Amino acid sequence: MDAAWAIDWLRRSAAVVAEHRVALSELDRAIGDGDHGENLDRGFTAILAKLDEEAPPTPGAAFKMAAMTLISKVGGAAGPLYGTAFLRAGTAVGDAAALDSALLVAALTAARDGVVARGKAESGDKTMIDAWTPAVDAAAAADRSAPAAVLAAAAEAAEAGAVATDPLIARKGRASYLGERSMGHRDPGAASSALILRAAADAAA
Ligand code: ADP
Ligand code: MG
Ligand code: MG
Repeated sequence: MDAAWAIDWLRRSAAVVAEHRVALSELDRAIGDGDHGENLDRGFTAILAKLDEEAPPTPGAAFKMAAMTLISKVGGAAGPLYGTAFLRAGTAVGDAAALDSALLVAALTAARDGVVARGKAESGDKTMIDAWTPAVDAAAAADRSAPAAVLAAAAEAAEAGAVATDPLIARKGRASYLGERSMGHRDPGAASSALILRAAADAAA
């Protein structure tokens, strides 16, 4: 998985975030302040503009560019969290020209650990961690002979993890103010994480 894959991942992420912008904000309207889709779309639109200016030479450079852009453009809870995720992934892969399965698992793990370090959420708190942790676990357990299979396993687990946030009571972020009334709604950050991890797998397929 080389720089072209990383660039394709970011472009596909921008496309799915734009496509699901209204739906993501509707999820956030139910249990938050209704801006998650707009926040992410603003960030990924800025990433597309940066990619048009200059193609990052390595996956790590692409991740770091995405991190800086998301931190400066997204705001709210999700900007620093996604920014930290991409920054830690960038650090984990260093200046490798291409990522094998082991580096992909390391990048996903570092991204998830960064979100936990920043947001202090645990599994089951109804946050994006409930998509990321199953994704990391599935990636670590996947057949490492094919990097694309690692990413496909991560995406599938993230999607299931996002769906599994529906019955949970939020314990972190704005949704936690609702207590039990957050039950029966999907966490927007878990939903967007599943879309972005699916984009990574699609770029590798
Ligand atoms: P804001 O809540 O500031 O409007 P967004 O709507 O963009 O920010 O993002 C909300 C999402 O951020 C939530 O759905 C959740 O997945 C994630 N989130 C919020 N707080 C935390 C946290 N402490 N740890 C992990 N994820 C969090
Ligand atoms: Mg919000
Ligand atoms: Mg907000």
